[in-house]
Amino acid sequence: MNIEKNKVVNIDYTLTNDNGEVLDSSSGREPLAYLHGNGGLIPGLEKELEGKVKGEKLVAIIAPDQAYGVRTEELVQEIPLENFHDANEVKMGAQFQVENGDHTHIATIIAIGDKSATVDMNHPLADETLHFDVEVMDVREPTKEELEHGHVHDAGGHHH
Ligand code: ZN
Repeated sequence: MNIEKNKVVNIDYTLTNDNGEVLDSSSGREPLAYLHGNGGLIPGLEKELEGKVKGEKLVAIIAPDQAYGVRTEELVQEIPLENFHDANEVKMGAQFQVENGDHTHIATIIAIGDKSATVDMNHPLADETLHFDVEVMDVREPTKEELEHGHVHDAGGHHH
């Protein structure tokens, strides 16, 4: 069975940056399961996996615009301190999720002033060229429910 839209795919992967540093890996964990063609993986990696079959290995080098994007200063913003729900959130380097239009960003506090904090909502991996070492562990049909939800459920039917 080839990987195509709406197949459930399990991959083992190791992600490294241009310097060869390991950023993430499924090593020692369950393979990553996702529903192909539904935005579960970065676009560049889904493209590379398209058409592959169980047992195939590949090395994919993904440019930032097909991965976590290019840094933009528009995503660096000042937020008044009173907008934070919890004073514990306001620490240098603290990370939290923010909704911005239809996107969820990971925001990192990069400066704290008297009245506001500066947050950087660029993805931590923005501007990085990503090197994926991937092995396709399984390709299967989705269940009806997985298809309706647009994501993979684990063996017990639970949400990830
Ligand atoms: Zn679901």
